[in-house]
Amino acid sequence: VPRVFSGIQPTSDSFHLGNYLGALRQWVALQDTSDAFYCVVDLHAITVDHDPKVLHERSRVSAAQLLALGIDPERSTLFVQSQVPEHAMLAWIMGCETGFGEASRMTQFKDKSAKQERTTVGLFTYPILQVADILLYQTERVPVGEDQRQHLELSRDLAIRFNNTYGQTFTVPDVHIVKETATIKDLAEPEKKMSKSSASPRGCLYLLDEPNQMRKKVKSAVTDSEAEVRYDPDAKPGVSNLMNIYAALGNTTIEKLEAEYAGRGYGDFKGDLADVVADYLGPISARTKEFLADKAELDRILVKGAEKARHVASRTLAKAYKKVGFYPPA
Ligand code: ATP
Ligand code: MG
Repeated sequence: VPRVFSGIQPTSDSFHLGNYLGALRQWVALQDTSDAFYCVVDLHAITVDHDPKVLHERSRVSAAQLLALGIDPERSTLFVQSQVPEHAMLAWIMGCETGFGEASRMTQFKDKSAKQERTTVGLFTYPILQVADILLYQTERVPVGEDQRQHLELSRDLAIRFNNTYGQTFTVPDVHIVKETATIKDLAEPEKKMSKSSASPRGCLYLLDEPNQMRKKVKSAVTDSEAEVRYDPDAKPGVSNLMNIYAALGNTTIEKLEAEYAGRGYGDFKGDLADVVADYLGPISARTKEFLADKAELDRILVKGAEKARHVASRTLAKAYKKVGFYPPA
């Protein structure tokens, strides 16, 4: 069975609909057909300003949300990155294989650093840590949203380069991006992607929002001055984004939506979508709270996951250490 790895940052109190449709929905589905490793990547989360207490709590809430969405720790390996030190260790090696110019071309760094008061070296080397995350598990498929495509290309390039230089060490990973939901846009600013760390609160549909809050956000989503429910991402980014969400959660298609709402304007469309969203996402909050209620049990699940992860990660790291001429960890 193929090995799958993916990660998500604990950079807010709740994941959002873009995380779910771009990545997490595939995480859940891929459990049936693959050996999956899913990671709350807290090392990545300190590349931007953070509060230690808040980060720690967000990592817990993130893990609980993943369990609530259906990640099954019996079938998949669910863990928090800081419990597996091999990530940082391999990242050092991979950083020494990466060209400065190559790293400088990463567009996420340009976007995120422009929004920060203070830009760190960690934010710059973030994609290299991500390469280590992926390669440690001899990953074949990486389910992510479109915004991660460039980082995955870097993972492939570095795996191939390392293998060519030192001999076969890493599996070269493939991306797994679902075209229709590859980028969910911010509801208030549909030219931007929905984001945990930078989206407008009004434009970001959090999985843990109250159902009425969700309805309100959908109904006040930015559209355009026409009144036609028609799919055209360039000319009508707001409406097209809502249609993508509707199709994905409402188990329907863009064509059917265009037919169904022909001549009816945005009011009906948004009202119906508001119900679809609230019905679909509503139950996630309660299930997350259940997993958070038993702190000892959640910690136990994560430690067990970290042990399983280290079992694989330490073998890959030992190989890489040997290949580059290091002494083995004593
Ligand atoms: P941050 O703003 O802190 O970077 P984020 O919302 O981008 O948060 P990440 O933790 O960086 O979330 O990414 C988790 C996963 O969600 C990745 O696979 C990423 O590609 C995917 N993802 C993030 N935003 C979207 C989006 N708007 N549409 C589709 N997928 C997304
Ligand atoms: Mg991100």
